[in-house]
Amino acid sequence: MAVYHSTKALLEGLVALAASCSSTLELKTLNTTNDGWPLRSASIGSGPTKVLLSFGIHGREYMTSEIAMSFLTRLCSGDEHKLLNDVTFTTIPIFNPDGRARTDAALGLGTGIRDQSCGDRRKNGKFVDLNRNFDWDWDDLVASSGDALSTSYRGPAPNSEIESQTLDALAGAVKPDMYIDIHTGTLAMYSPWNHNSSGAPNTDEAIALLNKVATGTSWHRDQRPKFGVGGIVSYLASGTAADFVFAKHHPRYAFIFETYLEAANAGNTESRMGISSADLTQKLPRGAMAHRVAANRRPPPRAADSLQPQELRRLALQRSTFANATVSSSKPSEWVGDSCFEYFSPTDDEGLEGLVRAWTSALLLASRTLVVDMARDASQAGGTSVGQGLRRAV
Ligand SMILES: [Zn+2]
Repeated sequence: MAVYHSTKALLEGLVALAASCSSTLELKTLNTTNDGWPLRSASIGSGPTKVLLSFGIHGREYMTSEIAMSFLTRLCSGDEHKLLNDVTFTTIPIFNPDGRARTDAALGLGTGIRDQSCGDRRKNGKFVDLNRNFDWDWDDLVASSGDALSTSYRGPAPNSEIESQTLDALAGAVKPDMYIDIHTGTLAMYSPWNHNSSGAPNTDEAIALLNKVATGTSWHRDQRPKFGVGGIVSYLASGTAADFVFAKHHPRYAFIFETYLEAANAGNTESRMGISSADLTQKLPRGAMAHRVAANRRPPPRAADSLQPQELRRLALQRSTFANATVSSSKPSEWVGDSCFEYFSPTDDEGLEGLVRAWTSALLLASRTLVVDMARDASQAGGTSVGQGLRRAV
């Protein structure tokens, strides 16, 4: 039966999974968050190809850490030996435990707090939007906010937050060939850039990989995600983890996977936001359509933020109560009525199970495709070398 795990239960679940894993699942505590949660990595595999994944950079995007657990459980099952020989996976299953625990508390079990603002559930322990805090186009005036009360508050300085610094250090150590940052809020897969409307180097190959994932995955209710360059098919976002890792640490690929769109919101997002298709189209520069593969657009982020506009109340809340949440797991149906939660994660068993299964498969397929791409390069390099040898022999 599908359940959501509290942040505490997820951390315990990782320890239990490591104990029962058919391979070595290495857990490391990389840092401690502002609210005192451990910031942990979980690594598995021994291959030369390096994949780095982060889940739950936005706390309210609760389902993403369930995908992390499902993905790691699959890798531990014993059925993925070949992939683990090809790839070393490093994951951060709960990248923003402060924000996620604030969402735990919103369930009302253990703490009685159910009035956390939706915007605050997105942010870290210092109420910074981590996915605007990274040192890449950090102080963009349009694609993030310097207002501490904004949902997209970028923080006081680039990479000011412990979580951002931790990912930077981890990416520097891992040197990933592929980085994926997993979110919810829409159904889409983005390649860089997300901070402007142009494709980054290697965009064609990145889009080809996303096309394989989109067409080769069995999607929940046949809802296939759109995909393309983030800054073209979505709204602009600066200081994001994916753009930063791509720019600074040079993986072959860096992606954002958006894994859930509340079906009921799909048709009325534009009217709720007061944004017309014409407005969205005007944002596109001439010639920028080359990589726009899907016609749909991600809904702007403010839709859910306006559901519970209680930002001003947040400073009165006692932060310590978040970390004391005792709820271990809950059924999706228990979250019905929490409009913020419903916007970012499914509240039916079938939805949670189906989406987690589909995105677990998508992450596996993306990794296998990466291995094929890397092997193709190696064989082309090998072919050249063989050719040179033959020429020398002649
Ligand atoms: Zn997000």
